[in-house]
Amino acid sequence: MQQQHDLLNKKLKQAIDARTVVEDARKHQVEVLSQFAAKLSLSCKGLDIELDNRLAKFRSALKKGVDFNLLSPFIDDVLGLLKHQEAKQIALQRELNNSVTDAGKQLQKVKGLPDDARRSLRHLLDHELNNIQSNHDFIPLLSKLVIIYHQALQAKLSTKSETESQIKPELAAELLNLANDLVLEDESAEQIKAVKNNITHNDCIDDLLDSALKIITIITRNMSKERQSAQSFLISLNQTIEDLHHSIVSTSKHSESLSAEYESLNKQIEAKIKNLNTQTQQATSISSLKELVEEELKSLSDDLIAKEKLEQSEREHLLNSFNDINKRISHLESKLSTYKKRLNEQRYKSLLDGLTKLPNRAAFDERFNHEFHLFNIQESDVTFVVLDVDHFKSINDRYGHSAGDKTLQVIAKALQKSIRKSDFIARYGGEEFVLLMTGMSIENAVSSLEKLRKNIQAIPFKFKDKQVEITISLGATQLKKGDTPLIAFDRADDALYKAKNEGRNKVCISK
Ligand code: GH3
Ligand code: MG
Ligand code: MG
Repeated sequence: MQQQHDLLNKKLKQAIDARTVVEDARKHQVEVLSQFAAKLSLSCKGLDIELDNRLAKFRSALKKGVDFNLLSPFIDDVLGLLKHQEAKQIALQRELNNSVTDAGKQLQKVKGLPDDARRSLRHLLDHELNNIQSNHDFIPLLSKLVIIYHQALQAKLSTKSETESQIKPELAAELLNLANDLVLEDESAEQIKAVKNNITHNDCIDDLLDSALKIITIITRNMSKERQSAQSFLISLNQTIEDLHHSIVSTSKHSESLSAEYESLNKQIEAKIKNLNTQTQQATSISSLKELVEEELKSLSDDLIAKEKLEQSEREHLLNSFNDINKRISHLESKLSTYKKRLNEQRYKSLLDGLTKLPNRAAFDERFNHEFHLFNIQESDVTFVVLDVDHFKSINDRYGHSAGDKTLQVIAKALQKSIRKSDFIARYGGEEFVLLMTGMSIENAVSSLEKLRKNIQAIPFKFKDKQVEITISLGATQLKKGDTPLIAFDRADDALYKAKNEGRNKVCISK
């Protein structure tokens, strides 16, 4: 008897242990899913507010230990939102394509467009543009380019005779400035450099038209690369989430069918134990009792073995599908982290000027606004300076565009070295730099700025074996109550204008 009881106890304990393993696996699974949702929301932050919200809800539901079956609707939602995100991207792309195509068509209609330009345009519109995605940094540039192209074309058409010189330095400068704003990598960077070089040396209209088209082609290629990587990421994200969903649904279904079987077995066992109890109480002799109990215990033990088998199969199935889900999640996670890294790199790069590696205009705008915000709260002394290289055009003209580029790099390095750690310098455009000096009144700034001016003048530039002195002019002002970034900028610009007028290589201030 006692032996039989022990056996029964042992079997029950085994059954409970087996259950615990399944529960633990489930808990672990919920944890993995929570982490995954957290990472997914971090990576998709800013893409879509609704997606952010949904993922936050998903995470908090998981934290509360929501039923596995209830996760499906959440995943459905996230999936829907991702699809929506994709659709939004595509719509944006279409919008951009349309606007550029329209502009291009307008251009094609212009009478007198040279044949090969028309061919290049058509190729651009038919092939390259179909492949691009709205990349916000490139769109304004692309629009500006189309405008410049149009202007050059009109200038060409208004020139009466073939022999009349068709030189347009303003358009060349505009195109060059635009090319300077482009932050590209590798091969594209080289191509842009070549185009820039060409613009500096040839400002006749045919060359300008050619250069503008070349830049448009380089930009659209980059946008296409960009789109492919963003889109393939979204697609694989969708795919993995869809797979994940299926696997969770099938796990849940399997659990459901097993749990019905499980329940009936439990009922059977319960009934047998109850029966055993009544029979024991009604038994009249030890021997009949023994016989009865033995029989019942045997059948009970069979049931328990069946139950254990069932649990084992459930356990195996669950663990298998958990493993599968885990594999998919880690694969997706590695994709997410690469994508995020790329995005960060891109953002970092998009704030640096390609030539001088100083912060660019976008970075400056961000910083300037931030300093204004602080200034409005603290009203500490902030000096703002605009710096412009003197007669820079003549360096390009006399020694070539590459020499000009190198000069800008050397000047940028010298400027960076001459300022305090807390100062902020950026390349605003062309040969113009801006400097923010926090905690510095204009009176105190002047001597540092004079030193800066002299440092640049002292750089021993040498072109074509000739010693060349290069100087800068500086216009400075201090932020005042009631200023806006634009007002302060204009004031510094006025001071710079004065410095130029008074002979250059000079620091002027504007109060
Ligand atoms: P000023 O003393 O009045 O400032 O005369 P400047 O010649 O420096 O001024 P201007 O604005 O007439 O000419 C600026 C030139 O800078 C025009 C453009 O060719 C050149 N430039 C702008 N960006 C770059 C660049 O990235 N590389 C090179 N090499 N030249 C550039
Ligand atoms: Mg200049
Ligand atoms: Mg200038």
